[in-house]
Amino acid sequence: MDTLAHGLWGGMLFGWRRRFGLAFLFGLCPDLFSFGLWIVIRMARGQWQHGRPDAYMLPEWLHTAYNFTHSLIIIGAVWALFWWVWKELAVPFSAWPLHILCDIPTHSQDFFPTPFLYPLSSFTIDGISWGRWWFMLLNYTGLLILALFWVRAREGRRNKASYSIEVATGSGSTQAEQASSSSSKSA
Ligand SMILES: [Zn+2]
Repeated sequence: MDTLAHGLWGGMLFGWRRRFGLAFLFGLCPDLFSFGLWIVIRMARGQWQHGRPDAYMLPEWLHTAYNFTHSLIIIGAVWALFWWVWKELAVPFSAWPLHILCDIPTHSQDFFPTPFLYPLSSFTIDGISWGRWWFMLLNYTGLLILALFWVRAREGRRNKASYSIEVATGSGSTQAEQASSSSSKSA
């Protein structure tokens, strides 16, 4: 799946309680710490070209980094550690294993199939490539639907919070009540 979509899925599914940014970032991490680093180095050297790179151009360290960042075994262990010592962080961090789970069926053997069992096994699945137009359309439609639910749920929570503050401070009188009190004063 493309990196932006990973960030958005992760941010919306695991970025509750003002943690959207953090979950969004964790959703990007597997690609940032592999292809992202390589792109930065290429740009710094003035060698950047748009489009899918040829396999011979990719350095060995990139494959190693990709294996580490896309391994459910390694990232699952890190997640379990967070869950044990710092649960607050474990929730937004879940966007990282979600990235790997989404990559497994959306990468074909042609280009970086997901090494999700690394280092225990080199087994990978021959999925469909995420770059197909119908998959992009389906994926971003799904994200749009989730975004609508997300914004509505957040607004609902905000309204509920401001209502409870009004009730607590006694400023929760309705417009009808205010109107009737002002008309009785003027009468
Ligand atoms: Zn990835």
